[in-house]
Amino acid sequence: MSKSFRIAALAGDGIGPEVMREAIAVLRAVETKFSTPLEITEAAVGWAGIDAHGHALCDEVLEICKSSDAILFGSVGLPDRDATVPKEQRPERAALLRLRKEFSLYANLRPVRLYPELVHACPLRPERIAKGVDVLVVRELTGGLYFGQPKQTTELPDGQKRAVDSMVYSTHEVERIAHVAFRAARLRRKHVTSTDKANVLESGLLWREVVTEVAKQYPDVTLEHMLADNAAMQLILNPARFDVLLCENTFGDMLSDEAAALAGSLGMLPSASLGASTGASTTFGLYEPAGGTAPDIAGKGIANPLAQILSATLLLRYSLGLESAATAVEKAIEKVIASGMQTRDVCAPNNPSPVGTRQIGQAIVEAILAGH
Ligand code: NAD
Repeated sequence: MSKSFRIAALAGDGIGPEVMREAIAVLRAVETKFSTPLEITEAAVGWAGIDAHGHALCDEVLEICKSSDAILFGSVGLPDRDATVPKEQRPERAALLRLRKEFSLYANLRPVRLYPELVHACPLRPERIAKGVDVLVVRELTGGLYFGQPKQTTELPDGQKRAVDSMVYSTHEVERIAHVAFRAARLRRKHVTSTDKANVLESGLLWREVVTEVAKQYPDVTLEHMLADNAAMQLILNPARFDVLLCENTFGDMLSDEAAALAGSLGMLPSASLGASTGASTTFGLYEPAGGTAPDIAGKGIANPLAQILSATLLLRYSLGLESAATAVEKAIEKVIASGMQTRDVCAPNNPSPVGTRQIGQAIVEAILAGH
């Protein structure tokens, strides 16, 4: 048996427990297939945490996270119950934002992939996606316009108001996110497109200068710079031209949502939020579906578990350094989708029988165990 890893599994609310169950089953299959012991500790967060311990994220659960190599997160929040408490006590703030802050998670990774069998779910015309969509958006998460100072609203003598936000970046902040993008590109098609507004912003000039400098340490990866507005257009006109799309916080917020629309359903979209490196090639991270708790379908057994399972795949890759296991899960997912299995959210109009959460999860487990 090889080195053992610790994972905190925090399912949360709504569809969280349903999709987490399938992701854990997949991790157990990886454990068996690759003889890699995984110590998975499940704990309650969100409204489930409030019901169990009185807190959306209690100190004991935080300690479990601190002693883990990575966190696999579901989703938290239930609109009906959220409305009954002040904003700061709502689970998304009290649990998720607290975790992001606690672990200084500065890099957000969102892979967007459109599987050939699911092109009907993509809003673009078929000729625009003929070469496929497989983009990894790497977004800086803790700097830029959302956090820069000064940030204030003042009253002017004539009674009008004046509001200021500041886009601030230091060399160090750009360097560390650029390294994340180049390292990720090495595991993919080895191309980074860095977006900025170097034509009009000082912070854009620094961004471009620092990314160019960092690129010298990755001679095997090609770098192109693109103005962020052009990147927004190219994502729609020719998404196949992108491999890794590196963005500062605000541009990344918009470009990642635009790219996400290409995958056809929130249920297909995983994400990773990474913090400090834990080894030469591994990083502590929190992994979660891009969507929320989907109360409209919770408890019905019809949620798409792929976003959660793909989040577990990112965890294997970036926090545990288990690249071959991550690839094996991705191949198993491809195989299952190619077999025609579709959950309701991505179901083709001519498919009368979408499968449920358990069915597709079990098929992926079987494909992993049967893989070579
Ligand atoms: P949502 O993402 O939960 O749902 C939006 C739509 O997408 C719904 O129709 C839902 O059925 C569908 N959907 C989402 N995931 C799906 C999946 N895996 N399979 C199939 N369909 C899926 O967004 P919402 O309804 O605005 O929010 C519901 C709750 O989730 C709110 O309390 C919100 O605060 C919370 N939320 C939590 C997170 C998080 O924990 N990171 C993120 C977003 C929203």
